Amino acid sequence: MNTDNTNTSDVRKDRIVTNSLGNPINEPFATQRVGQHGPLLLQDSNLIDLLAHFNRENIPQRLPHAHGSGAFGYFEVTDDITDVCGSAMFNKIGKKTRCLIRFSTVGGDKGSADTARDPRGFSTKFYTEEGNLDWVYNNTPVFFIRDPSKFPHFIHTQRRNPETNTPDANMFWDFLTTPENQVAIHQVMILFSDRGTPASYRHMNGYSGHTYKWSNKNGDWKYVQVHIITDQGIKNLTIEEAIKKAGEDADFCQKDLFNSIAKGKFPSWTVYIQTMTQDEAKSLPFSVFDLTKVWPHKQFPLRRVGRIVLNENPKNYFAQIEEAAFAPSNTVPYQEPSADPVLQARLFAYADAQRYRLGPNYHQIPVNCPYASKMFNPAIRDGPMNVNGNFGNEPNYLNTSKDYSFIQQQKPIQQHQEVWNGPAIPYHWATSEGDIDFVQARELYTKVLSKQPGAQERLAHNIGIHIAPAADTIQQRVINMFAKVDKNLANGIRKECEAKKRDSSKF
Ligand code: NDP
Repeated sequence: MNTDNTNTSDVRKDRIVTNSLGNPINEPFATQRVGQHGPLLLQDSNLIDLLAHFNRENIPQRLPHAHGSGAFGYFEVTDDITDVCGSAMFNKIGKKTRCLIRFSTVGGDKGSADTARDPRGFSTKFYTEEGNLDWVYNNTPVFFIRDPSKFPHFIHTQRRNPETNTPDANMFWDFLTTPENQVAIHQVMILFSDRGTPASYRHMNGYSGHTYKWSNKNGDWKYVQVHIITDQGIKNLTIEEAIKKAGEDADFCQKDLFNSIAKGKFPSWTVYIQTMTQDEAKSLPFSVFDLTKVWPHKQFPLRRVGRIVLNENPKNYFAQIEEAAFAPSNTVPYQEPSADPVLQARLFAYADAQRYRLGPNYHQIPVNCPYASKMFNPAIRDGPMNVNGNFGNEPNYLNTSKDYSFIQQQKPIQQHQEVWNGPAIPYHWATSEGDIDFVQARELYTKVLSKQPGAQERLAHNIGIHIAPAADTIQQRVINMFAKVDKNLANGIRKECEAKKRDSSKF
């Protein structure tokens, strides 16, 4: 199946302008009216057709991740991991699977600047023979929250103040410095480090962040995290460069991605996994389902799986990128979600968002069709904008007396893997669990950024500038929170904030 559904080639061949139902229009730029300067006629249905469709061009923008860019390419297996995962896409070295990646910023609206300080979405759709698989990842290995009940609250603090209709440093930092939200500290450190402003989509990594459960064909299973490491090398902008680019060339990353592919400079990434057994998970100092933590490389080394190459630009942005629908619930045999609560909530929320944004038949939009497998379930039929033939005269239910060979092919979900029991309780895991939530943030500062010249100073600079417009009490809360990471960092933030305030008072 072709994921390009624009039909432009046919139209261009004939060059006959028509209305939306294919009726020829002789005068596309002349409206029917009474006499030369009289009122228009309701019978000018071509004009009504044109204007009415124009009014309906917009679809709801994603919330969040509204602003993005994407391209097609392939995933190629370079190393055998069939001992870890039985998915068909991994079953042979050299095997290629077509894929689509959409990169995005998170908080901004469509049309906002590509270079904003923000995590980047890194969503990949694989068109596999076992159906579509979506890896809905970010360019950071951790996240701000670990309880999904916080998500809409957190995202709202990154958006506009309901009264002033502008981004608000008080909202932003009030949320993050509230003691029970300081689980975010690790992600906040990464966000305000150099990696918070990637130089381009080509120069950043993708991380599953969440823990997944993968199993082999014998049913042996492991916890897995995926790392998609850029072959172009990490490249970031300083805060000053990012602000300048936002003013001069807000679509900088979109252009960079499109132009490099158009020139044949295909960006690529190497895909690795980390694996962990259930016993190893039990001896971790944190929960394996905690999205605010990474798995230390030394203990859980990266194992190479394959590479992703993007070599094809979309021909039509709306049809192939805007209408692309990603959801972590789109998965294939042998790749399962773990009990990570944020992932569990995303399993519902993403597909639900696509149903709202594109309609319940969004899987029929060409870019979302599982064209490499054969979708067959005649109970999933009808509904708005059903355009795929609707299973013809198949019964509208599954008749169990029929021979459905696909039922036999499907491996059962590995239900024996984990056993859960306990009372139903509101569990306040959102609350910071003391210093454990600061340990990895501190390691990032003392062990990683210390080796990158100027990185610690730039972190303090980026935070200090950002908190300068906030209230003094909020600034103090920010400084107190970062003092729990490192006293020098807190002092650096204070100095940078004071300098920015002095600078701003000149205007
Ligand atoms: P290592 O000491 O083995 O490696 C440090 C890693 O830090 C690098 O591999 C790189 O990840 C990443 N890194 C470098 N600069 C930045 C930055 N500005 N922001 C975020 N990450 C950066 O790592 P450990 O496993 O011992 O973990 C030490 C710390 O490194 C962690 O606390 C975490 O903050 C950070 N980190 C760890 C990751 C992991 O999966 N273990 C992944 C990313 C960050 P990469 O190679 O992926 O580019």
